[in-house]
Formats: sequence, structure tokens, C-alpha cells
Amino acid sequence: MKPVLFALFFLTLFLCAGRAHAAVQEKVEKSEEEWRALLTPEQFEITRKKGTERAFTGAYWDHHEKGVYACVCCGALLFSSEAKYDSGSGWPSYWATIEGAPVVEKRDVSFGMIRTEVLCGRCDAHLGHLFSDGPPPSGLRYCINSAALTFIPAE
Ligand code: FE
Repeated sequence: MKPVLFALFFLTLFLCAGRAHAAVQEKVEKSEEEWRALLTPEQFEITRKKGTERAFTGAYWDHHEKGVYACVCCGALLFSSEAKYDSGSGWPSYWATIEGAPVVEKRDVSFGMIRTEVLCGRCDAHLGHLFSDGPPPSGLRYCINSAALTFIPAE
């Protein structure tokens, strides 16, 4: 009996530790109807249907306040105003993500182009695309739809 209790004790410890870790990186999964209810039609079209807002029309392409930009779907912190720059593209552009941000890259061959799609790794929201014509120090350009983001001003 004793070894069984011992094993149960360790199994419980193991499961609790796993759960604590999972809480940090927990996946956000919702049905299409749930997302539709939570988002505006434009946010839904862009984040859940891989749409693109028209250049120079979004809320953040010409936005210069200090703060962070979170995923509009799940709230994950993705980009900082510190890495935002004016790319001239008409979309909010960043040369880096926030360190440790759940940003995922995926090859995208739609519309006859080979591009790198950028998604939120927590909820799979389509955010925009990643290009290699950004400024130093990274040379990267995260070209993101305003409608995929929520701005949180610095305090
Ligand atoms: Fe997200």
C-alpha cells in the first residue's frame, strides 16, 4: 500500500506543477460563433479570417503613445511602443516583439506571394506579416493590422 501512496503523492505534485505552467501559456480556444460575438466585424474578419485592413485606415499606423499592444482576441502582450517605427506602409510596424511574446510565424503562399504570416500563438489570431526590410537592430518589419491589436497606455 505504501508505495502506491508514495506514487500518488508524486503524481499529484507532478500534475500541480504542470497545471501552474499551463496557466501561463494556456491556449485560448473558442468557436467561430464565440469569436464573432466578442469581436467587431472588422476584428473578426482580420484575426479569424486572415483579412487585411486597408493601409492608412487603422487606429495605430500613426499612433505614437508609449505603451504596449496586446492581442485584441486574447489579451496576450505582443508589441511595445519602444519597437514601433514609421515604416511608411500605412500599418503599425515593429522591429521586434515583446520578449517572450507568443508570436508565431508561418509560411503563407496565398495571393501568389511567399510571405511569413504572423499569428498570436495563444489564440491563433492572424496578426499580419513579417518582412526582412525593417530597421536596425533586427532588420525585421512586423507589419500588423491595427484591428488585431488593443493599445494599453504606459502608466
Ligand atoms: Fe491572441
